[in-house]
Amino acid sequence: MSYSITNRCIRCDTCEPLCPTGAIKLKDDKYWIDPTLCNNCKGYSAPQCVVSCPVNSPVPLHAKKGRYKIDTARTLPSPNLFTNGKNNPFASAIAIWELCNILVQGASLPWEIEETGELCYERLILNGKGKIVYRIANPLAVEPTLALKHPEAISVIDSFDIKSACLNLIYAAHITALERPWEEEFIINDLQIEEYLGLDKRKDLSKAAKLSLIKELAQQPCRLIASIDLPSQGKVKGISIKNSPLWHLMAIEHHFQEDDCGQKHLVGLTFTIKAGQWTKIFLNRQGCKERNSFYQYGTLPKTVLNSVMSIWQQHPGAARMLLWLLFKTRMGKEQRVTVPTFMRVAYGEKKVNSSSSQKEERKRLIKSFESDLEVISYLGINPVFDPITYPVEIQPLWVKLKNIPEEPEAALDFWIADGSNDNRLTDIAPRGKWNRLTNARILYFEIPPEWESPKKVKVIQPQKSKQKTKVKSSIELSSEQIINARKNRLLSQRELALLTGKSQSWIRDIENGRFRVKGEDQMLLRKVLEM
Ligand code: SF4
Ligand code: SF4
Repeated sequence: MSYSITNRCIRCDTCEPLCPTGAIKLKDDKYWIDPTLCNNCKGYSAPQCVVSCPVNSPVPLHAKKGRYKIDTARTLPSPNLFTNGKNNPFASAIAIWELCNILVQGASLPWEIEETGELCYERLILNGKGKIVYRIANPLAVEPTLALKHPEAISVIDSFDIKSACLNLIYAAHITALERPWEEEFIINDLQIEEYLGLDKRKDLSKAAKLSLIKELAQQPCRLIASIDLPSQGKVKGISIKNSPLWHLMAIEHHFQEDDCGQKHLVGLTFTIKAGQWTKIFLNRQGCKERNSFYQYGTLPKTVLNSVMSIWQQHPGAARMLLWLLFKTRMGKEQRVTVPTFMRVAYGEKKVNSSSSQKEERKRLIKSFESDLEVISYLGINPVFDPITYPVEIQPLWVKLKNIPEEPEAALDFWIADGSNDNRLTDIAPRGKWNRLTNARILYFEIPPEWESPKKVKVIQPQKSKQKTKVKSSIELSSEQIINARKNRLLSQRELALLTGKSQSWIRDIENGRFRVKGEDQMLLRKVLEM
């Protein structure tokens, strides 16, 4: 029995010199394994081609039969994330946000070739007073801080997979459990990753395919190194870090199970990872208390990982928007995103620029944008359009359709009113829609409860805080209370939307229990519904 090389091989040339029997050969520009020479790496603890391959391309000639046994000798991983089943804190510093953008946008970002031949991407921060420069490196190299040169670096960037941004977020969540993440390691295995990404429910993928995918995705965030230059800010001194990995891939353990023919089948992977020096500046609990560093964190909803994994293929633009919003929505309620900014995030600078001069491309881009916006709205992240710059006539059709009342009589009224409007719902887009969209803004996004930041620990001030908590809990309205109060006042969802100045879809969502109504909106509903 021997191994064979599958078409996942990216011809990185790593395995060939490592084969102890010289069985790996190059023919017609493709690697293959000579079965007469391969001896399953007799005398070695693992097949050398499998452990050295970044994409798990070599596989046993015969598929594994029987169950995969849990290997009890495996290194214990760090505690699981998402213990509440919903969300987990994660490090949300700019260095991680930008790494997320690089993994999802890849070559569409403005990479430049330096005089030394290395490829770099520069991100200015703090109004240009500071910057982070990203370069590509080999995570498993002896010296992982050596940047790759063009064109080797560009082929790595081209191989980036949107899904690897999920691993970046998972790592960023793991390090929030560590006191000094720049010194401590965490351990994560394939079973945990499968669960976080929802791969455990994918019956269409074999175990070998899942392991290959996990091995590939887990390494991609570790391929970036960053130089960070920050000016001093208050008590935080100026900082300069040179070519430091964002994530150190310390080790990959391969777990094998041997069959009756002596073939070793890969059945598990364990990764040991350590965060880079950036955490000393941006995720330093003690330093933050002493006010000489930051502790920047947000909330990572588990649904974001599952959503990216399910929509990336059909709606890559929506997946990019979703990941970008995860960081953006941390910046308070009024985010004011312009449509061109959002389009650049979803489709890249080049595509947006080229579309502005070509009519057909423009139409296609608007269509993709509106459809991707609908996808993220379906995931519970609802855009609130600026009524002045992004009025109803240039909003996507799905927004208008959402406002059609469910009750037959109210729906009839709606269509009668629509017929007498200058701008009817089914009208084609007005002339100059593109130009108007280039100035249009989305005010903010309504986000599901699991996206909300964890509440800060309050300083105990007995009398005051107790009274406040009581008042707050006494005004909380349930979906049923809202529905009953609306029906008692003989109001349709549309009428209630008009009275509260909210969209009908918002009313529908809170009645369906999709959102928890926040303090000020509860007061508004109480007032309108006379509760
Ligand atoms: S299993 Fe070992 S002997 Fe066989 S091809 Fe791979 S490296 Fe060579
Ligand atoms: S290590 Fe893997 S990807 Fe690289 S040449 Fe060998 S089989 Fe191909």
